[in-house]
Amino acid sequence: MSSLLRVWQEVHLGDLKKHLLVAGELTGQCLNCHKLGINLAAKFCPGCGVEFKFMGFRRKINLSSLARLKKKYAQMTFIDFDDFKKALAKIDARKILNI
Ligand SMILES: [Zn+2]
Repeated sequence: MSSLLRVWQEVHLGDLKKHLLVAGELTGQCLNCHKLGINLAAKFCPGCGVEFKFMGFRRKINLSSLARLKKKYAQMTFIDFDDFKKALAKIDARKILNI
């Protein structure tokens, strides 16, 4: 028996950004080249050719939808997109403040 749980893991942000497919309602966006309208089942970006390894979600998503999507796109590592945005903002702030 398995269940979906959030696991905290240290991730290289550049690597994540390069291989992240951000899912909207029906299609996704490649965060590497910003191409829109990508089929969520795509393993590679039709725009820049990178392999998608991570999937994040623009909208809030409930656990049952997430479980359904995880079954459908089992090869993807799901990330919390808000966590990612916060981590990027923190790095940008550090760059600006030069710390
Ligand atoms: Zn791309």
